[in-house]
Amino acid sequence: MTDALVERLETSSSGREVSKVVVRQNGAREEFSGDVVVASCGAINSAALLLRSANDKHPNGLANGSDVVGRHYMGHVNSVLMAISKCPNPTVFQKSLSVNDFYFGSKDFPYPMGHISFVGKLDGETLKAGAPAIAPGFTLELMAQHSLDFWLTSEDLPEPSNRVMLDRDGNIVLSYQPNNKEGHKRLGAKLKDLMAQQRKCAMHGHECHQGLFARNLYIGQRIPLAGVAHQNGTIRFGRDPKSSALDPNCKAHEVDNLYVVDGSFFCSSGAVNPALTIMANALRVGDHLIQRMS
Ligand SMILES: Cc1cc2nc3c(=O)[nH]c(=O)nc-3n(C[C@H](O)[C@H](O)[C@H](O)COP(=O)(O)OP(=O)(O)OC[C@H]3O[C@@H](n4cnc5c(N)ncnc54)[C@H](O)[C@@H]3O)c2cc1C
Repeated sequence: MTDALVERLETSSSGREVSKVVVRQNGAREEFSGDVVVASCGAINSAALLLRSANDKHPNGLANGSDVVGRHYMGHVNSVLMAISKCPNPTVFQKSLSVNDFYFGSKDFPYPMGHISFVGKLDGETLKAGAPAIAPGFTLELMAQHSLDFWLTSEDLPEPSNRVMLDRDGNIVLSYQPNNKEGHKRLGAKLKDLMAQQRKCAMHGHECHQGLFARNLYIGQRIPLAGVAHQNGTIRFGRDPKSSALDPNCKAHEVDNLYVVDGSFFCSSGAVNPALTIMANALRVGDHLIQRMS
């Protein structure tokens, strides 16, 4: 089924199971039901769906007696950092490097800093989104052809006030104050130090990284709030129904046939890209569901 928006989940009169999945498709309302209902709308939209599904048995939002649904939004402290050199970088599939040397800290800063990798190769089009004009006549396309493009990820910490909410009309509101920024700043500085230690290039010698600009040029940009690619944490799992909405199998503590299987369940964002963890957890919960249904 495509182009279908789940608007709300309705429960039986006891409030203990989801009895209807209310869907809007091509302007028409449809209803579905199942023995087990799995929400997997992503951390922002799954939280919004549960909040939107409030009823008299779940006045604070479905499965939200703990008041954690929508809270602890995390999305990583991310930056893209470009190092521009005289050598062109003709690579297409660049995501081949990861550096975790500073994940848990370093001698001069014994706290976690995060993870360094390459970001998918930037081009002039992607740079239009925010790169500063750095030199007259130096087009964004040329800049991209000469750049090594790094992706820096640091952990942001679970903060109850960083949250997904709904406004009066049911629209999503995301309220977020970045935290844990010092480690991220230090990680960027570490990368710059490493780049400064590189040896001469075979083609341009020591001039490689000095030719186009007076010195190596690093352009760094923090990913702003709208960059919600790594959204997680909004329907956290745990053993205690007072402090978590899902149990260790990602079943809602308060609803017997409702599971949430996406980035919502994280209690901590870690400092690595989230998709593989989300997939691994989905396989784990899948095994549990097979057992339950047999
Ligand atoms: C540009 C970009 C690059 C990324 N690169 C990486 C990377 O390199 N490595 C990595 O690990 N991660 C990466 N991510 C993050 C990764 O894609 C996400 O963490 C992951 O896909 C989240 O999985 P999810 O199951 O939580 O939600 P999603 O994959 O977002 O799935 C949610 C689905 O639910 C649908 N949906 C939402 N609300 C409703 C509703 N009410 N009714 C019906 N359907 C609904 C959405 O349309 C969507 O299809 C990237 C993300 C972006 C945007």
